[in-house]
Amino acid sequence: MADVIIVGAGLAGLACARYLASRQVDCLIVEASDGVGGRVRTDLIEGFQLDRGFQVFLTAYPEAKAVLDYGALKLHSFSSGALVQFEGGRHLLSDPWREPTHAIEALLSPIGSLADKLRVARMRYQAMGNRETQETTTLEYLQRQGFSPGFISKFFQPFFGGIFLESHLRTSSHMAQFVFRMMASGDTALPANGMGAISKQLASGLPLRLNSRVKAINPTSIVLDSGEDLQARAVVLAADGPEAARLAGLPPPDSRSVSCLYFAADRAPIEEPILLLNGDRKGPVNNLCVPSAVASTYAPAGAALVSATVLGLNPDESAVREQLTSWFGDGVRTWRHLKTYQIAHAQPEPGRLNFPVGLHVCGDHCETASIQGALVSGRRAAESVMRTL
Ligand SMILES: Cc1cc2nc3c(=O)[nH]c(=O)nc-3n(C[C@H](O)[C@H](O)[C@H](O)COP(=O)(O)OP(=O)(O)OC[C@H]3O[C@@H](n4cnc5c(N)ncnc54)[C@H](O)[C@@H]3O)c2cc1C
Repeated sequence: MADVIIVGAGLAGLACARYLASRQVDCLIVEASDGVGGRVRTDLIEGFQLDRGFQVFLTAYPEAKAVLDYGALKLHSFSSGALVQFEGGRHLLSDPWREPTHAIEALLSPIGSLADKLRVARMRYQAMGNRETQETTTLEYLQRQGFSPGFISKFFQPFFGGIFLESHLRTSSHMAQFVFRMMASGDTALPANGMGAISKQLASGLPLRLNSRVKAINPTSIVLDSGEDLQARAVVLAADGPEAARLAGLPPPDSRSVSCLYFAADRAPIEEPILLLNGDRKGPVNNLCVPSAVASTYAPAGAALVSATVLGLNPDESAVREQLTSWFGDGVRTWRHLKTYQIAHAQPEPGRLNFPVGLHVCGDHCETASIQGALVSGRRAAESVMRTL
């Protein structure tokens, strides 16, 4: 019998188990699927590394710094800033402090006025100084900062839309400031072996039972779908929000959904390791990236991997292809569709679930919907278990 059973091998469950194992607590992770990582997994298809939905790793995440070995992840960084697709052209918005060589080009780009670009610099300064402002929505925060409606629509809506998976920018301004601070103070990166390498590193050496879905939990036992009953001194519920709610007999939280279409191309449509945002705000694609331009390991030799992110579910592949053809030309028609991921529960809507007192729970739904939030929640659950053992 293990001292602690952890239900779910996402980042939260893995972080919880790592913390307990480092304190010599005997734990067992029980996972429904066939691998570790939950929403942070990578599939290898025809030599292409497909993250299960486009995602990035922010090296400044404090909890990640504490628990991960960055050297072993072989991180490859994006250029700072972004390209904005607008009225038939692509325009660079760079961070003048981090990419001084691009500063003039960025200042001259037609995306926003000079005043908007100076406001970005001020926002960065505020974020770096960790200055908390009164919590409001991201949209209201940006409006209060004085950004023009055009700049919010062409840059911030696709930029934060791709991070928060909602483009109305109703997400908390504190989350926007946190993300901005993380991006400004560290790198935005992909591990050489895909985002799933983060999960595999955390899981390494931990006792695991895969393909074992839990159908019921109690404070000191769980029941698997197979009917098997496992006992422990404590149980930690590390499933995603909807499943954690179901197991605890609570109404499910609302979810934010996203789809990601992967294409194999002969040539990269963008050679730079940079994010491309849809500044036109028309068509299904919110943002696009060439992961193989960030880390060449994402595609086999002589090929490029393109990822197109569409907010919500049921993306129309032909509409996506049409849109990308209008951006990059007829060569897009030769791109081979590799796979589309549709992630119904990509992020929980903010708002805490009222779990019964005494139940140990972790997951991004307990903190912020991010890698940082999942890792922190895992450690906190482990600390609360340690107090009871
Ligand atoms: C497409 C996409 C892009 C993202 N981009 C970013 C990004 O760029 N940066 C960032 O910081 N965050 C990003 N996120 C968010 C981040 O990935 C998540 O917040 C985080 O991974 C959540 O981890 P978790 O452990 O809380 O949950 P999960 O990863 O959902 O893990 C829960 C685990 O529990 C298992 N489970 C569920 N039910 C049961 C059961 N009954 N029995 C046993 N096991 C069960 C599941 O199979 C799963 O393995 C993104 C998410 C998605 C989907």
